[in-house]
Amino acid sequence: MTIYCKDCSYRGKTSGQGGECPACGSFNLTRGQTVKEQEPHPKWRLVLLVGLWTYLIAMIIWKLLH
Ligand SMILES: [Zn+2]
Repeated sequence: MTIYCKDCSYRGKTSGQGGECPACGSFNLTRGQTVKEQEPHPKWRLVLLVGLWTYLIAMIIWKLLH
């Protein structure tokens, strides 16, 4: 189990004997869950971006040719 201190951002596996933060002594701890790390961009967003760019480039080429 991981503890996370909201006051000093301490992250560790053990808390103090009284359940306090070992770094700053605060009891403002969250247990069992860490701060959510940013999720990587979903694949469909990359597909959408590539699709839009392809469309844009295609339109530019089409304009240049006509
Ligand atoms: Zn702390």
